[in-house]
Amino acid sequence: MIALLDANNFFVSCERVFRPDLMNRPVAVLSNNDGCLISRSNEVKALGVPMGAPYIKYKDVLADHNVAIFSSHFTLYGDLSSRMMSLIESLVPKIEVYSIDEPFIDLSGIKNIEALCHHIRHTIWRSLGIPTSIGIAKTKTLAKVANYYAKRTPAFKSICYLDSFDRTELALKKISIGEIWGIGKQISKKLESQGVITAWDLKQVDPRCMRQQFTVVGERIVRELNGISCLAIEDVEDLKKSIQVTRSFGKPITNFYDLKAAIATYATRLGEKLRRQDLFTQNVSVFIRTNKHRPNDPQYSNSATVVLQKPINDGISLIKAASIALQQIYINGYTYSKAGIMAHELKPKGQNVQLDLFSNKFEEPLQSPELWEAIDNLNKRYGRGTLFSAACGKSLSWKDKKNLLSPSYTTRWDQIAIAFAR
Ligand SMILES: [Mg+2]
Repeated sequence: MIALLDANNFFVSCERVFRPDLMNRPVAVLSNNDGCLISRSNEVKALGVPMGAPYIKYKDVLADHNVAIFSSHFTLYGDLSSRMMSLIESLVPKIEVYSIDEPFIDLSGIKNIEALCHHIRHTIWRSLGIPTSIGIAKTKTLAKVANYYAKRTPAFKSICYLDSFDRTELALKKISIGEIWGIGKQISKKLESQGVITAWDLKQVDPRCMRQQFTVVGERIVRELNGISCLAIEDVEDLKKSIQVTRSFGKPITNFYDLKAAIATYATRLGEKLRRQDLFTQNVSVFIRTNKHRPNDPQYSNSATVVLQKPINDGISLIKAASIALQQIYINGYTYSKAGIMAHELKPKGQNVQLDLFSNKFEEPLQSPELWEAIDNLNKRYGRGTLFSAACGKSLSWKDKKNLLSPSYTTRWDQIAIAFAR
């Protein structure tokens, strides 16, 4: 048996952990630049405000209902996520982290499955204050279905166990194929035109037929719905092929220096991501573009790639490479709204590397792993941006708009929650 644990309204729940006063108040979390709603409490869902709704459009409705609004605070969510995952890991033999708030849990060999799952939920609630739902079934795809019901059926008390054929049949008959893991809009449209409406209908489709139409991915879904596990719990993360940092600017950029500073900041962030995974890159791409939602403005977008002589992951070399790429594509006179940097051809540490015979040895100290470990540790301890390259610039007017950010309760000493006792 496999369980899928999923935190309820995760970002909202994270905001509530240190704000018990919000426990019964509607809460919503916004995307980058405070653009759209990306997490809603049940009260906000009940208001009929859809997922991904533009904040501007619903601002008045939300204010009328006294909804507490937050900018997205990924440092907080990431930290609470890793605490939740290690808590679960301490209670079960094996998990696979599927997303920031969803691990698959391998339950093979567990005798009292339901009791263990109640214990996991209770432990997370008591230790972290995060509410969760658990779906249990024979395969990952069915565990996702079970989780769908665990969330929506109050009688299940947040745990749904598809332990019998009858229960599974009932569950599959009442769920449309669009809700099934891996069935996107395109596929569900095509299937619906063939009369396949519910997951139960999909379960009856000949797997070979699915393979012909939707490749092996489609075939697997049908087999998984039939209780045949095709997707194992994987404990090793696949080696990523590329890593990127892409953002829209809080305010449009019209000059080269601000754009260069923005790219340098993204390159810094990219370096942090690479070093955290012990990866190096030899191939750095930068893209810039104007706002395509303003068709009356002159439009431009372009990208450039710099191929390096040896793999790097230090901030200074990444900023240098990114600046070279930017110079190749920058054209004056446009209003830029978005940019990004990507590292390709990632190599793990220690992989054989062709050394550069002619490299300038004065550059070496800047690439010393000890230096960057020290920088990372300082920024981790005292907050991101404590130590940064001057290339990133001091004026951050182009930075993400985050006007409604909550404190970094769990990652900054100066923002730790204070409790008063009477
Ligand atoms: Mg969730």
